[in-house]
Amino acid sequence: MRTLDGLIKHGVQGRRILVRSDLNVPLSKDGKRAVTDDGRIRASLPTLTKLLDHGARVIVTAHLGRPAGEPDPAYSLGPVADRLAQLLGRPVEFALDTVGVSARLLADGLQDGEVLLLENVRFNAGETSKDDAERREFGRCLALLTGGEDDGGAFVEDAFGAVHRKHASVYDVATLLPHYCGDLVRDELEVLRELTGEPKRPYVVVLGGSKVSDKLAVIESLLPKVDKLLVGGGMCFTFLAAQGHEVGESLLEADQIDACRELLGAKSSDGTTKIVLPSDIVVAAEVSDDVPSQVVPADAIPADMVGLDIGPDTVQAFAAELGSARTVFWNGPMGVFEVAQFAAGTKGVAEAVAAVDGLSVVGGGDSAAAVRALGLDVNAFGHISTGGGASLEFLEGKTLPGVAVLEEA
Ligand code: ADP
Ligand code: MG
Repeated sequence: MRTLDGLIKHGVQGRRILVRSDLNVPLSKDGKRAVTDDGRIRASLPTLTKLLDHGARVIVTAHLGRPAGEPDPAYSLGPVADRLAQLLGRPVEFALDTVGVSARLLADGLQDGEVLLLENVRFNAGETSKDDAERREFGRCLALLTGGEDDGGAFVEDAFGAVHRKHASVYDVATLLPHYCGDLVRDELEVLRELTGEPKRPYVVVLGGSKVSDKLAVIESLLPKVDKLLVGGGMCFTFLAAQGHEVGESLLEADQIDACRELLGAKSSDGTTKIVLPSDIVVAAEVSDDVPSQVVPADAIPADMVGLDIGPDTVQAFAAELGSARTVFWNGPMGVFEVAQFAAGTKGVAEAVAAVDGLSVVGGGDSAAAVRALGLDVNAFGHISTGGGASLEFLEGKTLPGVAVLEEA
């Protein structure tokens, strides 16, 4: 796989380099569209700065959210361009389209060491198209912004959070230009390879978040490899239901109950069950800041209540498992951490993960955002991945199209 440093060694001064970054950050929903967590923008800086410092003319393409394949101001990357400029400490030109007149004019006008951000790449239906020809055609338009290979154009893949997608800006452009692995993708892969190789034991995985159906595949592939799998968040209720417990109004995916019951049968070498479920749950009538809440045993959730966080006994039990672990991967909040009174479980587990004596990896957009929103020291973690779906698919052993294409000549 060709690296960014390899590209830099060839010389990038005066060349237009297309970089796929992951700038898919949360924005405030109050109409102001302020960037509420700039972690992914910060993570994209090293690659961009390296290229710019060496005199490259950098064209950044990225997506934000899931617009319907056409321009939509609610998904504009405008606020991201401003924050990127602040963090880079240099001006960022912003194209009002993806490959249209604005993008082409600004790309042509770039000087050495200047950077251009294109508008949300998903404003063009070609980006995510399942029709290979349509997607490739859009990829060709993106690649052409660099002037093409004969004009010094090249592509740097740095959007780890998107490498599991076979999209034009992630996959097709790499087939059309000399392609290089950015520093972020390199670093992410290096850490995840430690998890799939020979992790130091005990190896404990903590999973939470909302839907068990999103994560069933990763649970299945991780179970044989881990010593313990701690389950919290919205997905624990389908497991509790599989044990025959009442879960009230909590998140439940009835069609996954049988699959969960089967997984609960997995045993560790010491004969104990691999999957550890919460023993107590914080319940309330609804998700709100001021609704009264209470802690109940996990097998006694009142029928009219919603489970919104793991309880304090569970936090202690999970922390004890994590305390003896040498390798930890954590994905998915333990509760609705966005609401203060349901954040304690996520915070407690995050603190225990941060304290791990060994390798601790956090994966998942919401999990990483939770670490920062709850005021935890990000440096205490071994690695905070920028990719949710991408890191899970890597751990599942799936091929990541945006990585596989880099390995091709
Ligand atoms: P990640 O992005 O880290 O992979 P997910 O997207 O799977 O995580 O899940 C994050 C969401 O899960 C959060 O918005 C959180 O509010 C929600 N969540 C966690 N616990 C519960 C619960 N008990 N009930 C409903 N939603 C929950
Ligand atoms: Mg998420």
